[in-house]
This record gives sequence, C-alpha cells and structure tokens, in this order.
Amino acid sequence: LAAQLVQAQKVQALGQLASGIAHDFNNILQAVEGAATLIERRPEDVERTRRLARMAIDATARGGSITQRLLSFARRGEMRTEVLPAADLLGNIREVLAHTLGTMISVQCVVPPGVPPLVADRGQLETALLNLGTNARDAMPQGGTLTLAAEAASVADDADRPTGLPAGAYVRLSVTDTGAGMDAATLAQATEAFFTTKPAGQGTGLGLPMVKAFAEQSGGALTIASTPGVGTTVTLWLPQAGDAHAGAPGQTHRKAALDT
Ligand code: ADP
Repeated sequence: LAAQLVQAQKVQALGQLASGIAHDFNNILQAVEGAATLIERRPEDVERTRRLARMAIDATARGGSITQRLLSFARRGEMRTEVLPAADLLGNIREVLAHTLGTMISVQCVVPPGVPPLVADRGQLETALLNLGTNARDAMPQGGTLTLAAEAASVADDADRPTGLPAGAYVRLSVTDTGAGMDAATLAQATEAFFTTKPAGQGTGLGLPMVKAFAEQSGGALTIASTPGVGTTVTLWLPQAGDAHAGAPGQTHRKAALDT
C-alpha cells in the first residue's frame, strides 16, 4: 500500500511538473516566434531588428530558469513540518523497504541511542527516503545490503560539511547500498534534473534532484559519497529540533511548527 501511495504521488507530481514545463516552454516559443516573424517582415530596420533579437535572447534565457523552478516544484505542496524522532521514522521506512525490495536485499537500520529528533515534513521525507531506497535497489541487481542510519552532526566543527550549509545542529540520515557505485562523471551529474543512466521507461532522472530540493527547502542539504564497485551513501542533512540556525524557505513553516 505504501509503495502504491508513493507511486501515485510520483505520477501526480510528474503530471504537475509536465504541465508546468509545457506552459513555460510554450510562452518562450511564442516570444521567440513572434520576434522572428516581425524581423522577417521588416529586416531592414536595424534598430528594431536589434530590439526584437534582444527579446528573443531574453526569452530563451528564461528557459534556463525553468530547471530551477522545476526543482522547487515540491515547494508548491506546502511543507508541514513536525518534530520527528529518527528511530521511528527510519524504522517505518525499513519495514516498507524490507517488504518492497525483495529477499535479495537485506535492509538494516542503525540509529544509536540519543540521536536527537529532527524537523521536516514527514510525508515528503518518507517519499525522499523511499526514492533513495529504490535507487539503492536499482544499484544492487544481484542483491546486497541497504543500511538506513541516523546520527547527530554539528556543522560548525564538521570538516565534511556541505557547501552553503549554515552552521548549526543537524541530524544526518543516510541510505547506504553495497551496489555498483558511481564513477566521477556520473556522480558529478547525479543530482541534475533528467540525468539518468537507466533504460528509457525505468529512470526519470528526477529522483535525486527532487530529494536534493526537498533537503534544501527543509533548511538542510544532500551529499553523496560513492565508490564504483563498492557502493553509495546518500546523506540528508536535516535541522535538529530546537536548533535556531537560519534555514531555507521551509523556515517559516518550521518556526510555526516549533512554536505550537
Ligand atoms: P533515476 O533513478 O530516475 O535515474 P535519479 O535522479 O534518482 O534518477 O538518479 C540519477 C542517476 O544517479 C541514476 O540514473 C544513477 O546513474 C545514479 N544513481 C542514483 N542513485 C544511485 C545509487 N544508489 N547507486 C548508484 N548510482 C546511483
């Protein structure tokens, strides 16, 4: 049931995404076509031609911002943040994955006692973790071990902190597989929208970018460590409950959630 729900959410999200992109591209094409048509009619007017060419250039530049908007589409569904104990959260995900990933993959959960609770939208976080679980399965066609882990992390003294992450207290949630891993070129592009190494129909190339956008909108970050032939660890850094460091747009909701 959980898997079906996630699938349904994905399909719905993709539908929204697709119609948004179609709309934006349509506007851009209309602007470029309009400018080109006007130039064709009266090309001898150099000043006017220049102005119209500029309009076309500006319109195509807007195309570049589509990707950005695409990645923040998760923001549209308002973030309903709550305080979440890591052990409960990962325990539930472990159960769902153990049922859905098949017997060839052993799913483990490592949450040391004393890991503080984190703040995030539960539904979006679960979707993100299931996404990472699916990627891990795809990387282990011969089977292997998937490990869900949580640990506290303080960014001021963490040398490995992701760039741009404000100092503060975080909980790191990681999904580790013993799969194929990624070479440097794949790793460099892994979080780019529509980048996929999977056969058509199996990969959308939207999983990691969506998970990354979710992490950043939650006031955290996503990092990936991977070694070809050994495996991959994808880590979500999420704010610890009660920590007051500045965050991303989710902050307003976060504050509201904490104040009540
Ligand atoms: P998709 O899964 O649809 O391809 P993603 O954005 O989730 O899209 O992943 C992009 C690419 O990153 C994948 O096609 C794969 O090459 C690589 N990747 C993601 N997760 C893993 C993993 N756990 N192990 C190895 N490669 C991975």
